[in-house]
Amino acid sequence: MNIILIGPPGAGKGTQARILEEERGMVQLSTGDMLREARTSGTELGKKVADIMDSGGLVTDDIVVGLIDEKLQSVNGDGFIFDGFPRTLTQAAALDDLLKANKKELGAVVEMQVDDDALVARITARSTCANCGEVYNDITRPIPDDGRCSTCGASDFRRRADDNEESLRTRLMEYYKKTAPLIGYYFHAGLLKPVNGLGEIDDVKGEIAASLGA
Ligand code: AMP
Repeated sequence: MNIILIGPPGAGKGTQARILEEERGMVQLSTGDMLREARTSGTELGKKVADIMDSGGLVTDDIVVGLIDEKLQSVNGDGFIFDGFPRTLTQAAALDDLLKANKKELGAVVEMQVDDDALVARITARSTCANCGEVYNDITRPIPDDGRCSTCGASDFRRRADDNEESLRTRLMEYYKKTAPLIGYYFHAGLLKPVNGLGEIDDVKGEIAASLGA
C-alpha cells in the first residue's frame, strides 16, 4: 500500500516513516531528505534551494515533483511512504497524475495531529545522527549515554539549520496556508486517517497501524 504522512514540521513523520520501513519493508520518499542530500553533495539544485530551505519557505512545486517523478521511475516497490510531499494542492494533483502513470494507487493519507506548543518544544530539541539520519530528541529520546547512535554506532550528531524558532514559525505558516488544505482534499477522496501524534513513539505507531487496518 502507498501512503502519505501529512502533518506540521515536528509531528514525527520522519520517525514513523523509518519505523514503517523497518517493520514493513516500505520505502520512504522524503523530499526534505532528497533536498538535504542535494545540498550536502553540492549540486546545482542543492545550491538553488539552500536559502529558501534555511528560511523555512517552500521550494517550487516543479523541483519537488521532479524529484518524486525520478524516484517513482527508479525505485522498485509497492509500499511507498510519501513524507513531506505533497505540500501544496498543485503537488497533490501532480502526485495523482504520477501515480496513475506508474499504475499505482494511494491507500491512505495519515494525518499526524500535534499542537503548536508541542511542535516548538520538539523541534528545538531535535538532533539527527550525521551518519544514518536516526532522529533523537533531548527530552523524549536523548542520545545514548555512551554518545553513540543506537542504530549505527556513529558519534557525530547534527541539528538541522532550519530547526530554530524563527524558521519554524515560517514553516508552520507555510503548513497552515499551503499544506493544511490537503487535509480537505484527501478527506474528500475518502483517504484521510487522522491520528494523535502527541503520544509516545510506540503509541503513535500503534495508532497508525490501526488506521491502516494492520
Ligand atoms: P522537511 O524535511 O520535510 O521538513 O523539509 C525541509 C525543507 O525542505 C522544507 O522546509 C522546504 O523548504 C523543503 N521541502 C521539502 N519538501 C518540500 C515540498 N514537498 N515542497 C516544497 N518544499 C519542500
